[in-house]
Amino acid sequence: MHSTYTGRFAPSPTGPLHAGSVVAAVASYLDARAHHGRWLVRIEDIDEGRTVSGAAEGILQVLDALGMHPDGEVAWQSTRKPLYQAAADKLSAHTFGCGCNRREIADSRLGVAPDGSAIYPGTCRAGLAEGRTARSLRVRVPDAGQAGEAISFTDRFAGIVTQHLATESGDFVLKRADGFWAYQLGVVVDDAEQGVTDVVRGTDLIDSTARQIYLQGLLGVPTPRYLHVPVVRNAQGEKLSKQTGAVAVAPGDEPAALAVLQDAAAFLGLQPIPAATVSQFWQAAIPAWDSLLRQRGAA
Ligand code: GLU
Repeated sequence: MHSTYTGRFAPSPTGPLHAGSVVAAVASYLDARAHHGRWLVRIEDIDEGRTVSGAAEGILQVLDALGMHPDGEVAWQSTRKPLYQAAADKLSAHTFGCGCNRREIADSRLGVAPDGSAIYPGTCRAGLAEGRTARSLRVRVPDAGQAGEAISFTDRFAGIVTQHLATESGDFVLKRADGFWAYQLGVVVDDAEQGVTDVVRGTDLIDSTARQIYLQGLLGVPTPRYLHVPVVRNAQGEKLSKQTGAVAVAPGDEPAALAVLQDAAAFLGLQPIPAATVSQFWQAAIPAWDSLLRQRGAA
């Protein structure tokens, strides 16, 4: 069947794959296969300060052991900097150099964005004050009440989500003070360049989606469909970190792979999948995911 679906899994190689990232990987893979679509893997090693040597290779090896094979070459963000620069150039009418440091922004007490970062007070919007130099590059968002300031999208699970950029994000960073491109820019450029039609990822990123849709609008690229799946938490209700719950599956260890896959499937709300091998697991899990989507009106 011909399909125009392209999905992706985009891990940051800041440590080994953990149970939470496996859930995002499995959901994105199931969704792509249920739609007869393509599934890509992109290593988001854009924040080179946080990249852990060997982590990406470990992640790719576990995906392989779990039977998730990408359709096409793995993309590495650290090799795609010219694309991010080109996008920033294209956005130049909407960007400004900002001389503020974290402390100064926090001190303005405009509040914090849902991701915990302080809302930018607009200090350098109209130009840098005398004697200051630009540390980062920010994109201007419309003021509260202006057209385009409220961004709404339909999440396939959560329904309509609305975020007010002025009060919930503020002008946000595209290039950081340490010289690395920001996640928000990288993800938008790459999803567009790779033709991604469907983003399936953890709900911890739902608050980033409005900023990404805003950038897509400025760049004139399509907005994908979004599905945010629940995030795995530990018994204390905390999000799993890369240090806790690392998933290790040796190549060829099918019982270990099946156990990891069954856990992820159960977390996603699927009944236990009858399977003795990894390939049987996928054969049965793909139609099961399709039924779950239909039940939830999210196909
Ligand atoms: N690299 C991000 C992470 O590992 C995921 C980005 C995305 O799926 O948009 O949390």
